[in-house]
Amino acid sequence: MRKKILVTGGAGFIGSQLCERLLNDGHEVICLDNYFTGQKQNVVHLLDNPYFELIRHDVTMPFFIEVDEIYNLACPASPIHYQYNPIKTIKTSVMGAVNMLGLAKRINAKILQASTSEVYGDPQVHPQTEEYWGNVNPIGPRACYDEGKRCAEALFMNYHRQNDVRIKIMRIFNTYGPKMHPNDGRVVSNFIVQALKNEDITMYGDGNQTRSFQYVDDLIEGAIRLMNTGDEITGPINIGNPGEFTIRELAEKIIQLTGSSSKMIFMPLPADDPMQRQPDIAKAREILGWEPKIDLNEGLIKTIAYFESILKN
Ligand code: NAD
Ligand code: UDP
Repeated sequence: MRKKILVTGGAGFIGSQLCERLLNDGHEVICLDNYFTGQKQNVVHLLDNPYFELIRHDVTMPFFIEVDEIYNLACPASPIHYQYNPIKTIKTSVMGAVNMLGLAKRINAKILQASTSEVYGDPQVHPQTEEYWGNVNPIGPRACYDEGKRCAEALFMNYHRQNDVRIKIMRIFNTYGPKMHPNDGRVVSNFIVQALKNEDITMYGDGNQTRSFQYVDDLIEGAIRLMNTGDEITGPINIGNPGEFTIRELAEKIIQLTGSSSKMIFMPLPADDPMQRQPDIAKAREILGWEPKIDLNEGLIKTIAYFESILKN
């Protein structure tokens, strides 16, 4: 059955690929974005599709439409971008959630929230299960994002309990792949662009902090499976790749795969930068029958090919 689906933040890195996948699956897609970190360029190839619609709108303002499902992705995700205007970041997470939940309630749509592993902060439990409440500094520079996303989760649960809104909370771990903006500022895009230009690789801290990197196609499969679960499944559910690497290992892999002559330079570690990150995905395996299929090497090869092609132009 063709569904009508709203994707907020649909012109971003993940959102644009979600829009494409949903169209390929035969649905009608409305992509809403204010182009803060996303670009029209990411979805321009979809504009000829009669089942695709692109709307410039800011989720901090109410929005009315009739749809069956809402994927709420609108929010800058890279630390440099979400810290650029931290008040706006909180408003986007919190007022965006209120506006989209209000819409979902009014039209009885299912709604999925793109939450984040940042709700675990600098975790003292490793790997992170959904039961862990996290270790977040509420007054630090990352709080605008972390606490905004935590408040959004609280709002989702409350609209569900109080108003029976059909919700899904997905906690996304570090995701990378084609369509990341070259100046996005996140580690995978930074290192690949630096390596391809034979520039210094900017290592923050000693590079011993870890992250678990997930390829974007795996995430999108997980998101769609979660949306398609029965109403009794609300999440939160971790969606990430348990393969854990130090940032230094990531740099070494990228230097090797690009054949780059880049050298690492060491810079101060940003405040509250989490020391480790690894998802426990037992719930996703059991409830969604989902696990990531693309390992770091394979995903990096595809992502490097993408950046090579855009840097040529
Ligand atoms: P992105 O920055 O590429 O995409 C975010 C999109 O939201 C952009 O197109 C941006 O213009 C749009 N946006 C921002 N503020 C908005 C507003 N007020 N109104 C309307 N649109 C707005 O980032 P992404 O990596 O594609 O992230 C998508 C979602 O997934 C975000 O909610 C992010 O928090 C979440 N997430 C991503 C990761 C990751 O590693 N990529 C990890 C955890 C969670
Ligand atoms: N990082 C780095 N060099 C960069 C960008 C990031 O060493 O040029 C580090 C950063 O300090 C963090 C890790 O890589 O420890 C992941 O950073 P990113 O911004 O991608 O995501 P997040 O910290 O939100 O997980």
